[in-house]
Amino acid sequence: MSELHPPRPFSGGIILSYKCNLSCKHCMYACSPKWKGDWMSEEDALRILSQLAEEAKGKYHDIEVVGVNYGFHFTGGEPFLKFDLLLELVEASSSLGLPSTFVETNCFWCRSDEVTWSRMEALRNAGLKGILVSVNPFIVESIPFERIERAVRVGLKVFDGNVLVYQRLFFELFKSMELKGTMSFQRFLDEVGGALHYAELIPTGRAPYKLGHLYTKHPAGHFFGTSCRQELLRNWHIHVDNYCNYIPGYCAGISLGDARNLDEVCHPSSLKRRPIVKALLSDLRNLYELGKKYGYEEPEKGYVSKCHLCLDIRKHLADSEEFQELKPAEFYSHIED
Ligand code: SF4
Ligand code: SF4
Repeated sequence: MSELHPPRPFSGGIILSYKCNLSCKHCMYACSPKWKGDWMSEEDALRILSQLAEEAKGKYHDIEVVGVNYGFHFTGGEPFLKFDLLLELVEASSSLGLPSTFVETNCFWCRSDEVTWSRMEALRNAGLKGILVSVNPFIVESIPFERIERAVRVGLKVFDGNVLVYQRLFFELFKSMELKGTMSFQRFLDEVGGALHYAELIPTGRAPYKLGHLYTKHPAGHFFGTSCRQELLRNWHIHVDNYCNYIPGYCAGISLGDARNLDEVCHPSSLKRRPIVKALLSDLRNLYELGKKYGYEEPEKGYVSKCHLCLDIRKHLADSEEFQELKPAEFYSHIED
């Protein structure tokens, strides 16, 4: 394979910033309070949103419906840390006709019914179709569960049922435990840790480093012979970050180009200057070999997943600052925050 030819996107997430008030153990994007705190500029956002709106035209049967991989969501980091920007971009998306828009939040700001109602109403009046409420054992380490329950209760009314509770399993579990306030991860493990087996936990980003001890590990060779062609070249969900990196699927730290120019990103281009993507499109073994050339050493403990192997090698390669596809560079320094 000598060319990269990403398909046109169908749905996606707009990462307004990697800055977050939390630093969750499972965060795929390694968000935390330690990031510099850059936010997407309005100018870049408008260029990106207008192209995505054009792209989505005629592809959505119902622009009022939202789904985890259906429509376009504003995310982070935590988008409510800059509510004014969020509101402006929702207004802009609405006038551009971007379908099925929603915002994802950890609910830190849902301190009272009044505040929750007024912010949600402002967003709905600006054209937002729904909200995704994050619920998991890592967020409730810091966010009192009452705020999450409040966001769901108020959201269901304001957005006329368009509330995605992700993940519902944990929401129901915490309700059945009558959880009040926060809960340490250790307490979660002690009391209901078995629930983790039923949860969707994407083993990339910070998770392999912070939660790896809970999972079986394998040597690198275990993952040889597999490629990431499907993940890198899928059209059903992409992300664009505040630096305008066009991120395939959930592969944080990999950029396929400048999202301000969608035609260029989705046009066939040579893989010559993208050796990491080239390796990933063929066989993880090739990425491993590339890492070795740059002095990468396999850890004795092994890896929990192919994404762990991939990320660990990329983290090493990112130090050389030679690879244009490893962006944003800051991502690689916050994986173990
Ligand atoms: S998972 Fe969400 S809430 Fe947690 S650090 Fe990442 S962006 Fe923030
Ligand atoms: S191994 Fe790397 S490229 Fe493949 S899906 Fe995981 S993070 Fe993406």
